[in-house]
Order: sequence, then structure tokens, then C-alpha cells
Amino acid sequence: MKSITLPCPLSVRNLLIQFKKAAVGAYPVGGCVRDALMGQEPHDWDVAVTTVPEETLRICEGWGYHVIPTGLRHGTVTVLTANGPVECTTCRTEGGYSDGRHPDGVSFTGKLTDDLSRRDFTVNAMAAELSEDGETFEIIDLFGGRDDLKNKLIRCVGDPHTRLTEDALRVMRGIRFAVKLGFDIHPDTVAALRDCKHGLARISRERISVEFQKILCSDQPERGVSLLFDLGLMPHVLPCGISPFGTGNLSSLPADFGVRCACLLWQMPADELSENIRSLKLSNETAHAIKTLAGGVIPTESSLLAARLLRKDYGNLALPLLSIATSHGRDTINLQAMVKASAEAGECVSISELALDGQAVMALGVPKGKAVGEILNSLLSLVLDDPAKNTKETLTKEVQKRLSY
Ligand code: ATP
Ligand code: MG
Repeated sequence: MKSITLPCPLSVRNLLIQFKKAAVGAYPVGGCVRDALMGQEPHDWDVAVTTVPEETLRICEGWGYHVIPTGLRHGTVTVLTANGPVECTTCRTEGGYSDGRHPDGVSFTGKLTDDLSRRDFTVNAMAAELSEDGETFEIIDLFGGRDDLKNKLIRCVGDPHTRLTEDALRVMRGIRFAVKLGFDIHPDTVAALRDCKHGLARISRERISVEFQKILCSDQPERGVSLLFDLGLMPHVLPCGISPFGTGNLSSLPADFGVRCACLLWQMPADELSENIRSLKLSNETAHAIKTLAGGVIPTESSLLAARLLRKDYGNLALPLLSIATSHGRDTINLQAMVKASAEAGECVSISELALDGQAVMALGVPKGKAVGEILNSLLSLVLDDPAKNTKETLTKEVQKRLSY
């Protein structure tokens, strides 16, 4: 077998060497091997080990590592190395999947073959073994993952229908990897995605949402949405569908889920919008941003005042809102420039930014209570019209003028 070099951090390599000296099988596996073979820097290195988890923990602690028993039941311990945490997971099989989402039980067979066989797609089912020289690796590829990488193909390990029925989340994962890597999906796997989608009804909303977020933040968000529609998965993701105006130009927007999702849900009827957002189980902050952006109102004219009012009403969301409108065909270029200039100039767009505060207004003789708020609001209107008026002097005069009426 041909040895190759992988961009494996020194601390991971050292850990692999220590395992090797102790006659323990330890193999980088899954996403890191896939990414490294594609010439991309893996963001983390997962290692499959032949020892049972308690044993992995004990021997790594013996080498002086700090080890966290992350998921002993699933075989995972996290070894903290100088280059960051490395998850070491016992080679395992997964038992039946009677509920279509969780294995009934895992067994720690300690055999790499078992561990590779339980994985979802061929490109995710390769491992690497450090050579005797401690420098290069041999790739262990039982299912044609390297060919599929070369041919840019997502293909299930084993029989697609069986694998997608075992765990229906893999239906979403298949699309996620296709759009993330820019790969085609093998026709047999496509057919199984279509046939097995109903299993998604048993998968938690949170897990579906996480996959959807990754699909939308990929380099091919439009293709991801098309696949979700074409394969009939969309009802499992967004129960009320998408914007009546179509997807918009998603890939022109930053890879931010809130912004892209709002673009996809642009100007939907409020009840359908809320239902979609609710079903995605997002944080309050993200949910609120999507609701605000998707229901946003774009002024018809481009003026400095309109730009300031946008900043007042939408704060940090003003620019994303304009980008979304543009991606749906509106021309907001001038407004965007004006919003940016207004923000850069630090123009006042809220009561808290006024040169006079409530205390100062009362000190001038405005009685405590509703009148204070009314005065502050009228000062803000003045300042929105003419930012130069936001000085203590000018606003003091304005208050005095109002008091003398
Ligand atoms: P990413 O870089 O996006 O994290 P990844 O390949 O590391 O990609 P993960 O979701 O972190 O993806 O999963 C790690 C590995 O575990 C996968 O490469 C795959 O081999 C395996 N895996 C994860 N989830 C499943 C699943 N539901 N069914 C089968 N195998 C899975
Ligand atoms: Mg990963």
C-alpha cells in the first residue's frame, strides 16, 4: 500500500506513536481523513482505538494526559493534547435501530472493520494508520471512499435503504455533505433518500435543524434547498414551506444562518413564518433576528432620513435586511451606502444616543412622567431629520422652546 503524508498535528501524531508503542490500534478516522485527502485542513482529528473506553482513559492518563470521559457509554474519551482535544472512540458496531434514530446498543468489538462499516457514507468511512516510520500514513478504505472522493460522489456504505432506515438523520446528512463538499449523490443513494425520508418524522427537530443550518451555510445553499424540495424532504424541515418570492440569491449573502434563513422565508405570512421558525428550535436571539429580517419593510425612497430610520428600527440588522431585499431583486445599493455612512459617522438614531437624557430634560423643568418621554421622542425626530442638531446646546434650546408654549 502506498504511504502518504497527512497534515496531522504533532501532538496527534505523538499520541498515535504512544498508542503504537503500547500495541493499541489507533487510527484517525472519518471527517479528518476525508478532509486531509481533499487537501483541506481538518478542523479536528477523531481517532478510532481498539481499547475499551475505560482502558483508553487509564492508559492515556498514565501518559500524563488530562482525559475527559466524554461519552463512556458510546466509547468516547477526550484526550487533551497541546494542539487541542482529540476524541478517541472505541471501535464499535451499532446494534439494531428499532426506532430509526438510535442504535439499540453499541458493542465495543475493538475491530476497525466494524467501526468503518457503521459509518454513513464511503467518503466518511476511511481511516489512516501511522506507518512504522511515524511520518506517513496508510489509508484504510474498505468501501471505495477514495474513488468516490476522486469522482466527487456521496454514496452510502452498504445498502442505502438499510442504512437510511437505520438512522433517518443520514437523509439530511447526505444532502449536507453533497452541498458542503460540492459532490453529486450516487443514483442508488438518491433513490434511498427519496424513499427513506419519512423516517425523519422520528428524528428530533433539533438534529434536523442543525443539518439544515449546515446546508444553508454551505457554498451551495440554493442546490441544498432544491435537493430538499426535489426529494420531498422540505415538509420535514420547514412545515410551511418557503417565501412566495422564491429562495432569493442565497449564496450572495454571508454564510450566516439567520440571514440566509430570513432570505428563504422573505415576506411569508406572519403565522406561517412563526410556525417555520418555531419548528427549527433556534435560540431566542436567532429566532428573533429571522422574524425581524423576514418581515422587514424596505422604504420606497432612498434618502438619508430613510437610512437613519432603518438604523433606528433595525439596528445591526439594517444592512443584512437590505442585502436580503437585494437578493430578492430590489435595488438597495444607495440605501446601503447611506446606512453605512450614517453608522460610520455615529449619527444618533435612538433616545439613548441623544445629547440630552431624561435627567437633563427634567432639570430644565419638564415634570417627571409621560412628558419626559414625549419630549425625548420629539428631540429624536428632530435629530433624525438633522443629525447636526444633536448637541446639548441646540436640544436645550428646543426643550426651552417647548416649555414656553
Ligand atoms: P464535519 O467536518 O462537518 O464535522 P464530519 O465527517 O466530522 O464532518 P460529523 O457529523 O462530525 O461529520 O461525524 C463524524 C463521523 O462520524 C462522520 O465522518 C461519520 O463517519 C460518522 N457519523 C456521524 N454521524 C453518523 C450517523 N448518523 N450515521 C453514521 N455515521 C455517522
Ligand atoms: Mg466532525
